[in-house]
Amino acid sequence: MPLDTASFIARLAEAFPGPALLAGDDIPARNLHDTSFLPDVTPLAVLRPDTPEAVAEAVRHCSEAGVPMVPQGGLTGLAGGAHPIDGAVMISLERFSGIEEIDPASATMTVRAGTPLEVIQKAADEAGFFIPLDLGARGSCLIGGNIGTNAGGNRVIRYGMTREMILGLEYVLPDGTLVSGLNKMLKNNAGYDLKQLFIGSEGTLGIVTRAVLRMHPKPGCVNAALCGLGSYEDVVKLLAEARRGLGPMLSAFEVMWPDYWQVVTETVGTRSPLEGQHAYYVLLETQGLEEEIDGPRFMSWVEKVYEAGLLEDAAISQSLSDVQRFWDVRDACGEFMTRLGPHCAFDIGLPVTSMDAFADACRSRLAAAMPQALSVYYGHIGDGNLHIVALDRAAADQPMSQISAIVYDTVRDFGGTVSAEHGIGLLKKPYLPYTRSAEELALMARIKAALDPAGLLNPGKVIDAPIGDRT
Ligand SMILES: Cc1cc2nc3c(=O)[nH]c(=O)nc-3n(C[C@H](O)[C@H](O)[C@H](O)COP(=O)(O)OP(=O)(O)OC[C@H]3O[C@@H](n4cnc5c(N)ncnc54)[C@H](O)[C@@H]3O)c2cc1C
Repeated sequence: MPLDTASFIARLAEAFPGPALLAGDDIPARNLHDTSFLPDVTPLAVLRPDTPEAVAEAVRHCSEAGVPMVPQGGLTGLAGGAHPIDGAVMISLERFSGIEEIDPASATMTVRAGTPLEVIQKAADEAGFFIPLDLGARGSCLIGGNIGTNAGGNRVIRYGMTREMILGLEYVLPDGTLVSGLNKMLKNNAGYDLKQLFIGSEGTLGIVTRAVLRMHPKPGCVNAALCGLGSYEDVVKLLAEARRGLGPMLSAFEVMWPDYWQVVTETVGTRSPLEGQHAYYVLLETQGLEEEIDGPRFMSWVEKVYEAGLLEDAAISQSLSDVQRFWDVRDACGEFMTRLGPHCAFDIGLPVTSMDAFADACRSRLAAAMPQALSVYYGHIGDGNLHIVALDRAAADQPMSQISAIVYDTVRDFGGTVSAEHGIGLLKKPYLPYTRSAEELALMARIKAALDPAGLLNPGKVIDAPIGDRT
């Protein structure tokens, strides 16, 4: 039976009085899109429940009426995972925000899914702990979205992805069942580790409501070096030396190709902390316990690799503001949208040794198809994660699908992954088979069909599954 929209909205208004329901002209512009630059879509309504039970009730209402739902967090996602769907209800966690508990003895923090990442970082800092998850969108993204995407960011080389930081999870299944597993124990092998299904599945299997995060000791000191290198072979050797010589202190290993450096220093206008031009630029960061011990240790390691001929030049931080100045060069990619205009952004993954050959192949394939192509390469190379920003300077409207096809075909040729950290969402869905086998895709579809037989939770995102009988 077709949905009677008016009476469905009236039922929602009765169940969710006040600011929890936004419909019609009250739907804010911000909920019409995420950061994937897909065209705006006006949904049926936005529901903003403020308790886990209310999230469950919202899901039950939609499920019983056969109305699709899209979980929304801070809407900073770049793959279209939180982008609205025509006729769907957005379930936004933005009003279920706050830190419920900091437990110093177990070094855990229990948070609500609508809490901004930056709020969580600050609360940990004030309690003398450290939350290593960090990304450029820290002020706007919500922890529920970070969990939904299994976000990566700047310090994966030392602490791992979001998945590694989650000890317990509470979530709502597509039928409205609230499942609470707010485990605080580091070791818990009692049966299946169900929470893993809901981390990184981009809101297609359940809606996260609360999480127990693992906190780390606050670093006592941070040191960084910005290095110029002459060959990619030396970049790979430097990474191996850094892993060996700096051990667990190594907290970031970011590589920037000269095309990136040129855009950042010339178009964005960021001041280069290094003299001269180099074939590759590496930002290395360490987090130690005591400056008196770890500062000189870092300095002598940099001197050693310099004397071994791996570095052409290096600027070494003398203060935290130097560390920030070095990161400014890496974070300048946040300016690309305003400085370069519309472009395609990629977050691919590759074996570290293939990155440079991949960049060469990608650059020349793009140039062959579009003589005015600009592509720049940079990323968390210590994690095998390369970012690419590409555009055709001759095009008024960017040929997004042509650029995507060239980049992802090259990823497939090099045996990489089409997404290292941003997820699949809508944008990369056609390319998922480039990275996952037919058997893996079939298993994903079976899991989706088992948990969401009616296909109502974030339909069309990540993977399609056969729709079951809802009667
Ligand atoms: C400037 C900038 C820098 C960025 N840097 C990085 C980076 O370094 N590393 C990185 O990984 N990403 C990065 N991103 C991408 C983005 O910030 C992350 O993907 C982030 O984790 C998304 O969080 P969000 O709250 O904005 O989620 P949204 O965009 O709202 O949602 C993302 C996905 O999660 C789902 N979702 C949202 N809330 C929930 C929930 N409660 N339960 C289940 N599913 C949910 C949505 O349906 C969607 O599929 C960056 C983005 C920007 C704009």
